[in-house]
Amino acid sequence: MLNFYSLYSGSSGNSLLVKTENTNILIDAGVSSKKIESALTTLNVEPSSLDGILITHEHTDHVQGLGTFAKKFDIPVFVNKKTLNAMPKQKEKISEKNINIFTIEEKFEINDLKIKPFAIPHDAANPCGFSIIKDNKKISIATDIRTHVKWYTKKFRRK
Ligand SMILES: [Zn+2]
Repeated sequence: MLNFYSLYSGSSGNSLLVKTENTNILIDAGVSSKKIESALTTLNVEPSSLDGILITHEHTDHVQGLGTFAKKFDIPVFVNKKTLNAMPKQKEKISEKNINIFTIEEKFEINDLKIKPFAIPHDAANPCGFSIIKDNKKISIATDIRTHVKWYTKKFRRK
């Protein structure tokens, strides 16, 4: 089983849950810690059972609740270095032992999941998406590329 739930999406905040039999991970934490907690509870996922939070980029609508949530439930955070350094307010809340730095060129694993980051075009420090692979199933998550396109559309209309 490799399932994927959108907890929140859109400009007011983004957070996704990826779930297998043994592993629960979040991609982004862009709403308040309380909101993430309540969405997980609705799906019968104990917040403290999360195996990690992967971060795509540092914009507020992707990390708003990150520091508070990771601290409260003691969850490992997976982030690339430039992105981490671009969000000092979140960084200072996360305990050092929970910070896991990845590079976009390298695959890594969380339990039964293989994670393959890839670069995405977005106006952030070092934005990435993730391919998440379990056995022969794969999901790819790339957020905010649409926002980028919208921005160009708006600009065009104004002319
Ligand atoms: Zn963004």
